[in-house]
Amino acid sequence: MTKRVIALFGGTFDPVHIGHIKVARAARDYIKAEKLVLIPAKQSPLKRSGPVACDNDRLEMLSLAVSDKRNFEISDYELRKDGPSYTVETVKHFQKLYGEDALLCWLIGADNIDDLPKWYKVEQLIDMCNVSVMYRSGFERPDFDKLSEKLGQKRIEKLANNIIPTPLVDVSSTDIRRRLCRGESVAGMLEKGVYEYILSKGLYGASSKS
Ligand code: ATP
Repeated sequence: MTKRVIALFGGTFDPVHIGHIKVARAARDYIKAEKLVLIPAKQSPLKRSGPVACDNDRLEMLSLAVSDKRNFEISDYELRKDGPSYTVETVKHFQKLYGEDALLCWLIGADNIDDLPKWYKVEQLIDMCNVSVMYRSGFERPDFDKLSEKLGQKRIEKLANNIIPTPLVDVSSTDIRRRLCRGESVAGMLEKGVYEYILSKGLYGASSKS
């Protein structure tokens, strides 16, 4: 029996930008996922500082970004938990929610590859779902050979088989926050509703000049 495929896309989304949306849509179509669930993290265990925008603002921006997108959902599961969000725990939650007949694909950008060995229980994570690495502008095409000592050949092969060749979109939340703060243009980097929300709340030091 063919399993239903569900794509899970975690991140800080501080703010959610065009890059997230474009690669998520391409990935959803490539793996034929019946839906894509965006899962904002409370605090990334590997990022030194927490998100700049509060949980509610990040959630609100995600809602505005996907309100017109087919088969996109948002889950506040990680925001409701205390402390850092460990992907392996989140995947267990969604596996329970969707049942064993669902194949879960956890999407990450290629910028995460070097950090993968530091992820909490990463071996278990790779074994229990498809960790699907997407291309990211400014980063090498996914290459897992350097991780073989830590993860073992079988897991490396699984990662390599689940690469998703997404379009390159040269946008990052860090760059957007910096631009907004300096009053520089962010044209074409954000969904219109998200941009208007940022301006209306003056997030990231933005003023109406941006
Ligand atoms: P920051 O600049 O603050 O690190 P970010 O732009 O990387 O933020 P995150 O919310 O941290 O955004 O990213 C969530 C996930 O989306 C990560 O797996 C990241 O690799 C991926 N991602 C973000 N932007 C892109 C992009 N332009 N292309 C491909 N993947 C992306």
